[in-house]
Amino acid sequence: MDELPRSLAEFERRFPDDRACARWLMARRWPDGFRCPGCDHDRAWELSRGLLVRQCARCERQVSVTAGTVMHRSHLPLKLWFQAAWLVATHSNGISARQLWKQLGLGSYKTAWLLLAKLRRAMVDPEREPLFGLVEVDETTMPFRGRDDPVAAKPGRAADGKLLIAGAVEIRGKRPGRARLQVIQDYAAATLGAFVAASVVKGAVVVSDGWSGYRTLKDVKHDPRVVGAMAAHVVLPWVHRVFSNSKRWALGVYHGLRKKHLQSYLDEFVFRFNRRRSPPAAFARLLGLAARHKPTTYKMLISRA
Ligand SMILES: [Zn+2]
Repeated sequence: MDELPRSLAEFERRFPDDRACARWLMARRWPDGFRCPGCDHDRAWELSRGLLVRQCARCERQVSVTAGTVMHRSHLPLKLWFQAAWLVATHSNGISARQLWKQLGLGSYKTAWLLLAKLRRAMVDPEREPLFGLVEVDETTMPFRGRDDPVAAKPGRAADGKLLIAGAVEIRGKRPGRARLQVIQDYAAATLGAFVAASVVKGAVVVSDGWSGYRTLKDVKHDPRVVGAMAAHVVLPWVHRVFSNSKRWALGVYHGLRKKHLQSYLDEFVFRFNRRRSPPAAFARLLGLAARHKPTTYKMLISRA
């Protein structure tokens, strides 16, 4: 994958206008040259009314470069989307709608908010690969605040103003691989089993703290490491680090979490964590482009012969 610009000046040189952005998108979507999705013909006309639409030279089908991306049918200029995605991808802690509004000189805060919401929604790739290999799994709680109260806890509720979170992290040698975080309703075996089934590939080895909720796991090998509650961070170091980093991040960036949006915050944290070594992949993903051309090393890792 090509280098992402490392500075705003580089970004401006690389993407000076909508045309440059459209060309970059073309190259992403058809790395081996244009192919008509209707008839597989390899020649197309650029329609004069815009760079975003090509017309197949054989069947005359019109193909939009932005179809299937977050930019499709947007009234905002392509370059604005690129700038926003670049800012979001390169800010290690994330950027607020207010910051985006100021930095891009957008007309209204609402425009910035909607733009950011769309980019955030693109953070979860529906076709993402489940975690594989050795995977630490555990649960934790996160405090949330209500609509008005700064550090609210609704009395009488389960877990007292805290939301339950399940987490999983791949272990790659001495380092963490990818992570998943999900809001869960309870610690029941069925709930935890569903989380593992959705997040971890069949045949993987799941390391847990031995909680009974994991005893009935299917399709994965289970390695319970019962050592008593105090030492859970010793046997499950990475999932615990992800838990504490995500809590700190939520407090620092969002000043505490709102219950309604918790899963989307977790998705954003996981998005940054999983792409911490690959800003270009983050940039492409934010624009709604799936990483179809995965690096060989990753392909080798996921081959489960
Ligand atoms: Zn065609």
